[in-house]
Amino acid sequence: MTEHLMKILIVGDGNVGKSSFVHRYVNGQFNKMYKMTVGVDFSVKLLHWSDKEKVRVQLWDVAGQERFISMSRIYYKGASGCVIMFDVSSSSSFLSCRHWKQDLDNKAMLPNGDPIPCILLANKCDLAQRVVSADSINTFSKANGFVTWMETSVKENKNVGEAMRRLVQEILSTR
Ligand code: GDP
Repeated sequence: MTEHLMKILIVGDGNVGKSSFVHRYVNGQFNKMYKMTVGVDFSVKLLHWSDKEKVRVQLWDVAGQERFISMSRIYYKGASGCVIMFDVSSSSSFLSCRHWKQDLDNKAMLPNGDPIPCILLANKCDLAQRVVSADSINTFSKANGFVTWMETSVKENKNVGEAMRRLVQEILSTR
């Protein structure tokens, strides 16, 4: 049995659903209360990936900042993958994704020098008031080297596990 350890970062503007995502993924629950993340937290989930492989996923949820703040290099150290999240009802949170991706690529890389696999998540797709179109997300995702992008609703538990599986699969294939 092989056990892989993966440090995966979750970044994006404040209020897009990052801590809800981690909570849903790790504990299977959605908490309606708004809780500002203080400092950096990590949660762990053990995946029984195959007959021969387990994956221990460490999810690092970085402090809920209201504005774009570039993170300290220490958070990026040893990262195997990254989730960049925005809220489909907030165009500013989508625009910030460019900065988050650049920040990631400037500060972290795989041991072989390649960029860290990163998935783009368009969260809160349950909301009627969406302002970011699928076309613009698709174009942005391709132009900026994301593994792929997916619509998620942490509230309705849509694509949470699927998105993480896609990212873990990509990380394993680049190892
Ligand atoms: P963070 O600052 O990025 O960690 O965001 P939070 O996880 O604290 O979520 C911010 C707010 O958005 C909270 O009120 C959540 O309940 C809400 N939220 C998170 N995900 C969703 C979602 O998929 N749909 C809807 N409608 N609300 C969500």
